[in-house]
Amino acid sequence: MQDRARMIAGNWKMNNGAAATVSFFEKLGSWLSADETGKGAAAAGKSGRIEIVVAPPFTSLAAAVAAKKSEYIGIAAQNAHFEPKGAFTGEISLQMLEEAGCKYVILGHSERRHVFGETDDLLQKKLDSTLGSKLLPIFCAGELLEERESGDTERVLERQLSIALANAAAADAAKKLTIAYEPVWAIGTGKVASNDDAQGACSFIRSFIGQKFGQEAAQKIRILYGGSVKPENSAGILSQKDIDGLLIGGASVEAESFARIIATAFGA
Ligand code: PEP
Repeated sequence: MQDRARMIAGNWKMNNGAAATVSFFEKLGSWLSADETGKGAAAAGKSGRIEIVVAPPFTSLAAAVAAKKSEYIGIAAQNAHFEPKGAFTGEISLQMLEEAGCKYVILGHSERRHVFGETDDLLQKKLDSTLGSKLLPIFCAGELLEERESGDTERVLERQLSIALANAAAADAAKKLTIAYEPVWAIGTGKVASNDDAQGACSFIRSFIGQKFGQEAAQKIRILYGGSVKPENSAGILSQKDIDGLLIGGASVEAESFARIIATAFGA
């Protein structure tokens, strides 16, 4: 069994304004300190076995940083620009996110790729800038339904990761990077990948990292699964050997379902 700390990350997308964010962390905080299962999760967090990450929308970041209380809850941004400042209307830089108290930034989410047209080349720039900043990237990769049906899943993952990581060093992969395997057809659709399919793709990603950066990086890097994770299916996915955590959209917006998923990550 691996000794990588698990990461349970919630991507709220465009949900939960500042007031809803405060109420989310009040509920999560009382679960972590009052409920027996929550206390187990808090102990797992304190001992470094689980890291909880929440990615609110930009305007809720300050509220999340102020309200989260526990040091083992990390705040992530959902996107960033690769330049530190300048004439980029509507964009936010990594340095601004760091100043706002973020620890992580999600890059390459399927909605950024497929709704907002972010390309592999753009994501390489974003990843390079993030690896040169104090923020830690959670880099998403995954295939469309037609790519899966034509047997191209591994080819797509290899293309997305080799372009994104072209300039990265082995130490970056070992110490800074988290990869989230998120099959596009499973995101927000209720169609979760089977445990075997999720494990197969995550194992492929780990081998890719091993070939590119060596075995130490492959053993240290955290690989998450994301796509229609719910409290009912999270334990099965987390029991797979190459899956170190989850990136959760819809089921992370409410504190209760997010907490129920966290509970499955430490075997409650
Ligand atoms: C996501 O947005 O990264 C995601 C996995 O969404 P959902 O859990 O809703 O499928």
